[in-house]
Amino acid sequence: MALVVQKFGGTSVGSVERIQAVAQRVMQTVAAGNQVAVVVSAMGKTTDGLVKLANQISETPSRREMDMLLSTGEQVSIALLSMALQAAGQDALSLTGAQVGIVTEADHTRARILNIRTERIQRHLNDGKVVVVAGFQGISQRIDIDFEITTLGRGGSDTSAVALAAALGADKCEIYTDVPGILTTDPRLVPEAHLIKAITCDEMLELASLGAKVLHPRAVEIARNYGIPLVVRSSWVADPGTHVVAPSRQPKSLEGLELVHPVDAIEFDLDQAKVALLRIPDRPGIAARLFGELADQDLNVDLVIQSIHEGNTNDIAFTVLEANFAKAEAVAAAIAPVLRGDTADSSQAEVFVDRQVAKISIAGAGMIGRPGVAAQMFSTLAEAAVNIQMISTSEVKVSCTIDSSDCDRAISALCNAFQVTCSPLRDASQKSLSPVPEVRGAALDQKQAQIAIRHVPDRPGMAARIFALLAKAGISVDMIIQSQRCRMIGTVATRDIAFTVAQAEAAQAKATVAGIADEMGCGDIVVNDAIAKVSVVGIGMINTPGVAARMFEALAQQRINIQMIATSEIKISCLVAEDDGVRALKAVHDAFKLYGTEKVVVPA
Ligand code: ADP
Ligand code: ASP
Ligand code: MG
Repeated sequence: MALVVQKFGGTSVGSVERIQAVAQRVMQTVAAGNQVAVVVSAMGKTTDGLVKLANQISETPSRREMDMLLSTGEQVSIALLSMALQAAGQDALSLTGAQVGIVTEADHTRARILNIRTERIQRHLNDGKVVVVAGFQGISQRIDIDFEITTLGRGGSDTSAVALAAALGADKCEIYTDVPGILTTDPRLVPEAHLIKAITCDEMLELASLGAKVLHPRAVEIARNYGIPLVVRSSWVADPGTHVVAPSRQPKSLEGLELVHPVDAIEFDLDQAKVALLRIPDRPGIAARLFGELADQDLNVDLVIQSIHEGNTNDIAFTVLEANFAKAEAVAAAIAPVLRGDTADSSQAEVFVDRQVAKISIAGAGMIGRPGVAAQMFSTLAEAAVNIQMISTSEVKVSCTIDSSDCDRAISALCNAFQVTCSPLRDASQKSLSPVPEVRGAALDQKQAQIAIRHVPDRPGMAARIFALLAKAGISVDMIIQSQRCRMIGTVATRDIAFTVAQAEAAQAKATVAGIADEMGCGDIVVNDAIAKVSVVGIGMINTPGVAARMFEALAQQRINIQMIATSEIKISCLVAEDDGVRALKAVHDAFKLYGTEKVVVPA
């Protein structure tokens, strides 16, 4: 007899009829000879409604009371689903997070799961009951703190479900939702989005953190860490949906479930060379032209970084394999004079190269939403007296370029700090999904704001101090970019550091860094929340030259200006103006031919 965890989202339990349909679906799974634990979300838009109510009472409701309020939504749906099952003749019972023993940290509104007691659920399952568990909520338990109801963060029921599957040792976890599975992008924005039959956890982690809300990124993190077979499928039809392919199951302790090592690998590449074009015009088409020429030469670029513009100009830096350095430099040198003629400000466009570059990265799903991890990397490098040249982040990786001669020191300091060994290869099953398209999906995030700190002194420890402060304030930083351009302010060499945070936290982030920026002698702090981030993700891009060029070209054709660029091995993100966001997503989705022939019907 197999044990299945099934999770039904808000729309799937949005009305009495839908709850009854869910009950039927659960009973079919039982009839097929399975034990079933069900996790449900609050009905329809209940949680949004509760948030609105709270905001009518207070602009800054306390996080504890928010948890008390929001957790009620799921309590309604578990009771109703359990009643629907009983009414249809299936023995069932509902349990809140606390009743199950979903134990979390005490960090209200974004608590992480520490462990799940399974004895009670297992007992009821063994008695032939369907157990209906409230998603999104848990209970904090520390000797010095009272029991508190906590929630896991918006969209957190997915995380409850996968964590429960891990704790129960379930055979699989099925996420039922209002779309046919994971699609190439959000069908509400691009109706031509197409179903993806299978996707690796690494790809899904990036997509989920870049705005594809179909899965909570932390759910993917748990599936990846514990090797849980995960499927996302439609609540309305019996189609198979999308398989999220996890590495094979590892026996792992369930203690500190979501708090295991935040970093699972230190990766490095000594064979990199950096080419930067400084002071090139800040207008559509420039990146497309540069990377188009590189692609024409079949040159595979690795990191691509463009930080915030300065006046009318920008810098774009990229790394290539050392062996390709001469060719890449020649392309950049040939293109610089063409750009130079363009505007008065760009008259000083120049090429800057550095052959002695190493890339060093920390990688791991556990760093999602944990702002202290990047900060710890920066401070570890600072303590080892390693200067960081460029920084590029994704949600699951932070990469820095450093001088090659610092690499050994950097590696041993980081291995020590994060208690991991160096550069293990990713599980082979992650790469064996075929076919491997260069781009699996695209995403848009319209909820971020960009913050730039101008003229940060170019010395070890600066990034460390800034991001440690933000981490201490509990502010999650997303895309961090340290520019290539070094500008002399008096006798001090400086660089800009730009990053994105959730719009709701932008003002707090600015206030948090203002003091230290002043103390370090930095320039202005610029905040812009009229931005959108468009990204493409795919493991196939690792060995395919020209993916960045195609993305930039698609944006250029739409006359969309790229404000910042950050990449990891499997994703490329561009910041664009907020108003250009949806158009940018459509253009990119089209450029990689991700569309299908049938429109996906999304229920209201
Ligand atoms: P649930 O209530 O079932 O958890 P959500 O609203 O949280 O559902 O997530 C499903 C929604 O995610 C879809 O209706 C869709 O609009 C959105 N979405 C965003 N990106 C994607 C994607 N790549 N694939 C599928 N759905 C996506
Ligand atoms: N009801 C919660 C929310 O709307 C949790 C979830 O649906 O996953 O965020
Ligand atoms: Mg959801």
